[in-house]
Amino acid sequence: MKRVYNFSAGPAVLPEEVLKEAAAEMLDYQGTGMSVMEMSHRSKTFEGILNEAEQDLRDLMGIPDSYKVLFLQGGAHLQFAMIPMNLMKNRSADYIVTGQWAKKAYNEAAIYGKANKIASSEDETFSYIPDCSDLPVSPDADYVYICENNTIYGTKFHTLPNTKGKLLVSDVSSCFLSEPVDVTKYGLLYGGVQKNIGPAGMVIAVIREDLITGDTLPGTPTYMKYKIHADAGSLYNTPNAYCIYMCGKVFKWLKKMGGLEAMKARNEEKASILYDFLDESRLFRGTVRKEDRSLMNVPFVTGSADLDAAFVKAAAEAGLVNLKGHRSVGGMRASIYNAMPLEGVKALVEFMRKFEEEHHV
Ligand SMILES: *Cc1c(COP(=O)(O)O)cnc(C)c1O
Repeated sequence: MKRVYNFSAGPAVLPEEVLKEAAAEMLDYQGTGMSVMEMSHRSKTFEGILNEAEQDLRDLMGIPDSYKVLFLQGGAHLQFAMIPMNLMKNRSADYIVTGQWAKKAYNEAAIYGKANKIASSEDETFSYIPDCSDLPVSPDADYVYICENNTIYGTKFHTLPNTKGKLLVSDVSSCFLSEPVDVTKYGLLYGGVQKNIGPAGMVIAVIREDLITGDTLPGTPTYMKYKIHADAGSLYNTPNAYCIYMCGKVFKWLKKMGGLEAMKARNEEKASILYDFLDESRLFRGTVRKEDRSLMNVPFVTGSADLDAAFVKAAAEAGLVNLKGHRSVGGMRASIYNAMPLEGVKALVEFMRKFEEEHHV
């Protein structure tokens, strides 16, 4: 068996320890004689798995009792619609468009009401985060929406926008659990787990309890009401049980690693090794404004599409895979989520250095 260093943006690398544990429990989960995949979601055993996963997540993020944790299906994309359907009471919401994911959410919201684009960084290919200290927040806006870490472009909000008292809604898919957060600053934060937590197929939403009302836009399908899922404890219908189990294991791994403070330190160390190299390299350069750089997704280019392609190919042959940039931006992107070991980033930088020398620059 040979494992590679997988820099995929998602689905992405998982902690090896967690995969091994899951493998060991595959045929017989804790004496039940069956896999978690084969188990009733209404069983005592699964109830334990679900409750423990939720409690561990609450411990890690310091989620107050006044917030509900929901394990939902449909990916981040379904949230693009579920958010306006549940929260757009005045049929007006403000969107800060910092990349494709925010743009998709903005376009989806426009189906249900007035979606106001109050800031954007599209003028410079989303390579920066706009100044959000004094935005023209709409008086009737039900919420202000951001995508906190822009997976494709490699930018991150290091300061949350000044929403002028409006509810903040945030897509944290690609920075979930990468550093500590103050949950009380958000009305709702949510993320697909396939970036930084577990296998694909689930979203975790952390939502302030008073926002969960039965009062949704007319025509909202039952399944798309937060209240249905909150009242049923994420068991309204059959959940993605195996994914919940895997996420639970990752939460335990994160706790063992020292929690989110420790992950932040580790992530900063990894990112700075790569960014420091990019800043001094004669061949490669980062594409993002320095102060807005993400700790999780690091896009870079050589300036030549041919050389980029040659690099991606040679890197893959050396066991450094999925370094091709998103199809909309080209170049390279290294996603260095929680589960990417320090050695993986060191190996990447080593390889980049060698490639640079071989190309005589
Ligand atoms: C990947 C990603 C999405 C889309 O997730 P799906 O689960 O495929 O719907 C949305 N937002 C961000 C920030 C992402 O990284």
